[in-house]
Amino acid sequence: MQYIFDYWPGLKPRLQAAKRILLCLDFDGTLTPIKPTPHEPKLERDIKLLLRRISQDKSFVVGIVSGRTLKDIKNRVDIKSLFFAGNHGLEIFYKNKKFIYPAAKKYVPIFKRISLSLKKHLKLFPGAILEDKGFSLSLHYRLVKKEEVHALKKIFLKIIEPYLARQKIKLTYGKKVWELKPPVEWDKGKAVVKLAEKFKAKDLFTLYIGDDVTDEDAFRAVNRIKGMSIRVGQKRASAAQYYLKSAQETKRLLEKIDELK
Ligand SMILES: [Mg+2]
Repeated sequence: MQYIFDYWPGLKPRLQAAKRILLCLDFDGTLTPIKPTPHEPKLERDIKLLLRRISQDKSFVVGIVSGRTLKDIKNRVDIKSLFFAGNHGLEIFYKNKKFIYPAAKKYVPIFKRISLSLKKHLKLFPGAILEDKGFSLSLHYRLVKKEEVHALKKIFLKIIEPYLARQKIKLTYGKKVWELKPPVEWDKGKAVVKLAEKFKAKDLFTLYIGDDVTDEDAFRAVNRIKGMSIRVGQKRASAAQYYLKSAQETKRLLEKIDELK
């Protein structure tokens, strides 16, 4: 993994040579620092202006790929010229068209059921935040007392165990969050590849910036096509080719991308 700014002088001509650039960014931990609760993160004004300006250039297609619901991420970022992929790519919105990964729909009642069972127990764990996101479910434990996380995890695993055993759901461990997704062959990486294919540009260059476990699918996918994968935070086991030191540096990279035009 290489620090992107050390290599920028060499990377810049490659990006300038591309006819079109597909710029995909995760939201939490990438465009904004992670906050104690999922309700807090907001896009900094300067970053919003940068994203808007870059996306208005004809050679760029810019969008957000997030684990949040499509509705949430669209409202939170609120830039009309972007595309949005919510629920880890299961719902995509671009140019007033909405795509929902078909096989995901039938899992909505399962997440609802799990959510109802979990709710009964969560009163015992102040700080636990449950998000039923329709096509997925997240349980955040950042604010749960350290000594209680183990007990919470035990209950969580007990409730989801029958669904896991019958492969009705998939479990991933993010940053202080347990995430349940439908057991479908679809992830942030597949969503990014679908978008890249959709633009059908011959000289399309894809940039993906993310910070967490679910972004690894996108890093791997981008590494297989013409593109560049960038992780916020250096991590040896990551598939990303380059890294930024913190979410603050995403802005610095966006400024450099803005200068490419
Ligand atoms: Mg993230």
